[in-house]
Amino acid sequence: RERTREAINHSVEHHTPYDIEYRTVSPEGSIKWIRAIGQTFYAADGNPYRFDGITIDISEQKAFEQRKDDFIGMASHELKTPITTLKGLTQLLERKLERDGVTGYVSFLDRMETQINNLTRLINELLDVSKIQAGKLDYAQEPVDIDALLSDIVEIARQTTPTHTITLQGTAHVTVTGDRDRLEQVFTNLISNAVKYSPQAETVDIVIATTPSHVTIHVRDYGIGIPDEHQDKIFERFYRVHDTHERAFPGLGMGLYIACDIIRRHGGDITVTSEEGQGSTFTATLPYQ
Ligand code: ADP
Repeated sequence: RERTREAINHSVEHHTPYDIEYRTVSPEGSIKWIRAIGQTFYAADGNPYRFDGITIDISEQKAFEQRKDDFIGMASHELKTPITTLKGLTQLLERKLERDGVTGYVSFLDRMETQINNLTRLINELLDVSKIQAGKLDYAQEPVDIDALLSDIVEIARQTTPTHTITLQGTAHVTVTGDRDRLEQVFTNLISNAVKYSPQAETVDIVIATTPSHVTIHVRDYGIGIPDEHQDKIFERFYRVHDTHERAFPGLGMGLYIACDIIRRHGGDITVTSEEGQGSTFTATLPYQ
């Protein structure tokens, strides 16, 4: 109720549409999900004089969304087992062929393994998304040296990215409390996006800076950029910018959603500034001790 009241007040004060979803429990105990939409009308002197709106029962839609989320969770779980077996057997076969001196086929197996790794990454992202949805993604609490983390990530990124020069500027000399692997996942993802969405550019710049309470990490690319109207939506689940580029850039719109959750769960925030055709800068801010 408090949230609903605040939303109405906010809408009346700021002249913005009222649009909220909430759960109701009837006196008999039955549960319904409601979406309420409203709008305030103002007199010439600026005073509000009417608030019109409708409420829609979205219980069925909510139940369907829940089933879909459950399905994504189960599907990614079920996919993990065969893919792990496939990877193990591919490595075994590769070693056996090498030992027997049949090296002609080893490059095929290498390519198979690369594709299996791509599949594994996608399945893990699907699993992460469904865990975040269910509030079940757990984070370790360990000291993480930000300079060391970024320099490790950049070193690996340089090895796997022959097309771009990746620069790393600045040092923070700070320790963040959190989950090293998850933070690595965030910056690896930001860098691989920077490379993916700037096929014509040659550099990706990473800059570390500090304030008295926070460390900021900027990942800057000189690629296709993101139109204004999409910038606040790209952190949503499965959101991708729909335009002619879409087919040229494969992806499922999960990376930034996961990155955003990880950074927020570390008490930080992630934002983007971008200009179409000029490039984008993603900035992650994390509190340190
Ligand atoms: P994916 O890249 O798999 O589609 P993400 O969640 O990482 O998913 O990104 C969501 C969307 O945001 C992308 O589809 C793309 O449209 C846009 N985007 C992300 N990073 C960049 C970037 N560096 N430059 C331009 N667009 C980007």
